[in-house]
Amino acid sequence: MKYIDEFRDGEVARGIARRIGEEARPGRSYNLMEFCGGHTHAISRYGIKDLLPGNVNMIHGPGCPVCVLPIGRIDNAIELAAGNKAIVCTYADTMRVPASGGLSLMKAKARGADIRMIYSAADALRIAQENPAREVVFFAIGFETTTPPTAIVIRQARALGLENFTVFCNHVLTPSAITHILESPEVRELGTVPLDGFIGPAHVSTVIGSQPYEYFAEEYQRPVVIAGFEPLDVMQAILMLVRQLNEGRAEVENEFTRAVTREGNEKAKSLVAEVFELRKSFEWRGLGEVPYSALRIKDAYAGFDAERRFGITYRSVPDNKACECGAILRGVKKPTDCKVFGTVCTPENPIGSCMVSSEGACAAHYTYGRFKDVPVKVA
Ligand code: SF4
Repeated sequence: MKYIDEFRDGEVARGIARRIGEEARPGRSYNLMEFCGGHTHAISRYGIKDLLPGNVNMIHGPGCPVCVLPIGRIDNAIELAAGNKAIVCTYADTMRVPASGGLSLMKAKARGADIRMIYSAADALRIAQENPAREVVFFAIGFETTTPPTAIVIRQARALGLENFTVFCNHVLTPSAITHILESPEVRELGTVPLDGFIGPAHVSTVIGSQPYEYFAEEYQRPVVIAGFEPLDVMQAILMLVRQLNEGRAEVENEFTRAVTREGNEKAKSLVAEVFELRKSFEWRGLGEVPYSALRIKDAYAGFDAERRFGITYRSVPDNKACECGAILRGVKKPTDCKVFGTVCTPENPIGSCMVSSEGACAAHYTYGRFKDVPVKVA
């Protein structure tokens, strides 16, 4: 296949769905977690769940970058901008994530803080060059996909001798989050989240390759199939997982061979290794503190580290009591389990982070009407 519409062919999708229906054994269930928000979006957008037999369940994972960003980190960014210490630059979705006191970066901007929405890390660097008298902080978030561009701008800033540019680094790592989910009490002891296999991320895997998933496929005996974001990619990955489970295999397979290799992108990986190192621990919204699950800037680039330049200290802040994002990100609950889903909480007025980005489970369910089978609650 060559063109995008070929990966969205309804007839082929129905054919794969028939195969899944034939091969999924009636006496057992298949509980599959799509880690990545891009897959959650595709499943909702294309109605993939409606094509699956009742015993093949899709469980949403924590792979939406803004969803897992804890409130305390957004508070830190707002404090930097609100105190007029710096121009804070960040990606669009991050602007609307709820922070403490009913604020968000967007609302802080409306109150006069100099916060700018950017399309790429390079935009933040340009803003620093254009404003030599101001401190400019790039509020960097995201998984392994967005980390290499951050490494590049830090290197460029050093090469340019830019002294007013720093990065507030909040980059997180996929494999440690999957391991953490498998180690969580809900999965290990309580059995409330039966997880039989994973659909592995697409874009993240183009950078890190398929090799990092091999450890937990073997250690935890859970199959992983890396898949692209088109509906046929997801359907094919589900079929491959059903086959592995039927055959008692727990291997890493790669459906997304048009972009992912076992080794990944060596150049991007070495750039990241040059600029960043592992943090001992990092708080994820929904998962809590996860050991060795995030990156910080190495000593060699300390001059570009906003945490050091501004003495940023992190405070953990609990989510809004009504919000079930934490449980949704761990796969324990579904968006429709939340009492304020679609009433008080909508994409226009998000109460929690899962309703902000199109990759968030709540936003994906709401946008594509994947809640119409449950009674709509009136606020
Ligand atoms: S619907 Fe809103 S409040 Fe409820 S879990 Fe989702 S984001 Fe949180």
